[in-house]
Amino acid sequence: MTQGNGTRDGGQPADVSALRPGGHAVVVGGGLAGVTTALALADAGVRVTLLEGRPRLGGLAFSFQRGDLTVDNGQHVYLRCCTAYRWFLDRIGGAALAPVQSRLDVPVLDPDRPEGRRLGRLRRDALPVPLHLGRSLATYPHLSLAERARVGRAALALKGLDLADPTLDTQDFGSWLTAHGQSARAIEALWDLVGVATLNAVAGDASLALAAMVFKTGLLSDPGAADIGWARVPLGELHDRLARRALDSAGVRTEVRTRVTSLCVNENGGWSVQVPGETLEADTVVLAVPQREAHDLLPDGALDAPENLLGIGTAPILNIHVIYDRKVLATPFLTALGTPVQWVFDRTEASGLKEGQYLALSQSTAQHEIDEPVAALRERYLPELERLLPRTRGAEVKDFFVTRERTATFAPAPGVGRLRPGARTKAPGLYLAGAWTATGWPATMESAVRSGVGAAAAALGALGRSRGLLPDFFEFFEEAA
Ligand SMILES: Cc1cc2nc3c(=O)[nH]c(=O)nc-3n(C[C@H](O)[C@H](O)[C@H](O)COP(=O)(O)OP(=O)(O)OC[C@H]3O[C@@H](n4cnc5c(N)ncnc54)[C@H](O)[C@@H]3O)c2cc1C
Repeated sequence: MTQGNGTRDGGQPADVSALRPGGHAVVVGGGLAGVTTALALADAGVRVTLLEGRPRLGGLAFSFQRGDLTVDNGQHVYLRCCTAYRWFLDRIGGAALAPVQSRLDVPVLDPDRPEGRRLGRLRRDALPVPLHLGRSLATYPHLSLAERARVGRAALALKGLDLADPTLDTQDFGSWLTAHGQSARAIEALWDLVGVATLNAVAGDASLALAAMVFKTGLLSDPGAADIGWARVPLGELHDRLARRALDSAGVRTEVRTRVTSLCVNENGGWSVQVPGETLEADTVVLAVPQREAHDLLPDGALDAPENLLGIGTAPILNIHVIYDRKVLATPFLTALGTPVQWVFDRTEASGLKEGQYLALSQSTAQHEIDEPVAALRERYLPELERLLPRTRGAEVKDFFVTRERTATFAPAPGVGRLRPGARTKAPGLYLAGAWTATGWPATMESAVRSGVGAAAAALGALGRSRGLLPDFFEFFEEAA
C-alpha cells in the first residue's frame, strides 16, 4: 500500500491517532463526502484511515496539468446558501480562495433578438425576499411583460411547496411549470438557465422535489442565498492539497492509490476492509464511493433494497476549454440563450495562464455531445463563441480541448428520491456517504459535504460519542441519518 503523506502537523507524535478512544474508522473514498466524513470523525476524536483509489483526493472535483496549465476537470460553482460546503472550505482553510460574489449578478446574453444582441442580468437588490429579485425580473429583457408577471406568480407557488411532501418527487418540474403558466420561452430563458446548471437536467427531466429544493433554498429563502461562489485557484488546491493538509493535521491516516476490493464482518463483529496486499480492521466503515461502487462493496443484508442503488441513473457534464491569444470576455462568467453554449467562465488566473485568456464552457445535460470527437465540438463551438463574444473574431485560438465526465452527477429524475438511502445501513458500524445519498440536495458539493457530516454524526451516535465540532446546521441529519 502506498503510504500517504501521514506526517502530522503541529509536532504531534506520528501514532497519536492510535491513542484515541472510539475504535478505528475506515472511510472509503476521498471525494468531498469521504474527506468530510474523515475530518468530522477525527475532529470528534476517532482514529481514522481514509482510503482513496486514485492518486489524489477530491473525487469528481479535481485538477490536472496540461503543460504549464492547471486545468479543472469541470467548472464548479456553489451558492451562498451552500452552508455545508462553505463550512468545509473554512475547515480546510480555503474559504478565502473561493469567495462568493458580493451580490448575485449573472449576465445573460441573447445574441439573436430581432433588435440585435441583448444582454440581460439576473441580479438581486438589498431587499427582503421575494422583493430582492423584483427589479431584476421586472427589467429582464428576455421575457415579455406577461411572462415576467407569470414567473413571479410561479415563484410564489414554488415558495409555498412543502419540501417534506413525498408526492413532489413523483412529478417532473417541467410539467409543474407549464401547469403554472410558464411558457417554453420562460422555461428556457429563466428556469432552465438556473436549473440545468444546478440539477444537470432540463425541467422536464427533473424531479419537482429537487427543483423546488434548489429554487426555494437558492432564490426564495434569504436575499443573499443565490450569490455565486467559485474557486479562484485550481480545484485541486482546495480539494486535494488543502484537504490533505487538514486531514494530516487532524491525525487522519490518508492512503491514496488504495482501492478497497471487498468488505466483510470479522470474527470480532467488526469490519475487515480488503485493499491490495493488506487487510484493515475497523469498528466503523463509511462507504463514501459512488452508488454503483457502494452497491458492489455492500455486504448482503446491509440495505433492504440494494438494487435501488443501481436504479439511480447518472448524467454527464462536458467542459470545453478554449485558450485565446487575447482577452475576449470582460466578465468573470456569462450565460447565454439561443445557442448550445451554456455557461462560460474565465479561467485565466486560476489556471496560471500568463498571456491571453482561457475560457471554460460548462455544458450540463451533455448526453448528446459527451462522446463527440473534439474536432466536431470545435467546429460547433468556436463559431458560437464568435457569435457571442465579438472580440473572439480576430483572435487566435491557441488551444482547444475538452474534458468529459460521463457520470458527473446522479440523474435528478422524478422518483430518484425514494432510491437514495440515508447514511445508516442495517449492518452495525457501516454507513454510506456521497452526494447521491438522501440529503435532499441534487448532486453537488453541498450534498457531498452534507452526506459526509451526516454519516459521521450517525457513526458518532452509535459509538456513543459527542458530535465534536459538527455545526448546528446539520441538525436535520439526526433524523435523516
Ligand atoms: C464536470 C463536473 C461539474 C460539476 N459542477 C458542479 C458545480 O458547479 N457545483 C457543485 O456543487 N457540484 C458540481 N459537480 C458535482 C460535484 O463535483 C459532486 O457532486 C461531488 O464532488 C461528489 O462528491 P462525492 O464525494 O460524493 O463523490 P466522488 O467525488 O465521486 O468521490 C468518490 C471517491 O471514491 C473513490 N472510490 C471509488 N471506489 C473506491 C474504492 N473501491 N476504494 C477507494 N476509493 C474509491 C473515487 O475514486 C472518488 O474519489 C460537478 C461534477 C462534475 C463532474
